[in-house]
Amino acid sequence: MPYKVKVDRNTCIGAASCVAVAPNTFDLDNEGKAVVKKKDGSTLSDFVAYSDIADEEVNIMNAAKSCPVNAIIIIEVDEQGNEIRQVWPA
Ligand code: SF4
Repeated sequence: MPYKVKVDRNTCIGAASCVAVAPNTFDLDNEGKAVVKKKDGSTLSDFVAYSDIADEEVNIMNAAKSCPVNAIIIIEVDEQGNEIRQVWPA
């Protein structure tokens, strides 16, 4: 099943554990908030499909679990990219 991930900027406190766990998926922007890195080199504060991220699924989930404020949200989506259910926070 396809997944998407995003960081809730309002919740993120810039602890950067996500960047330490999954540096291919997360980076801190110039406001000290985490953003998702895409394969094309751009970053986004909204949902990004795993297929657009150069990382393993397990790394993204471990990063989400490492966030002390649960600011990383993972959803399962259908083939059209529409949300089926939230996977994390569980
Ligand atoms: S671990 Fe959570 S709080 Fe820390 S930078 Fe990542 S998303 Fe933000």
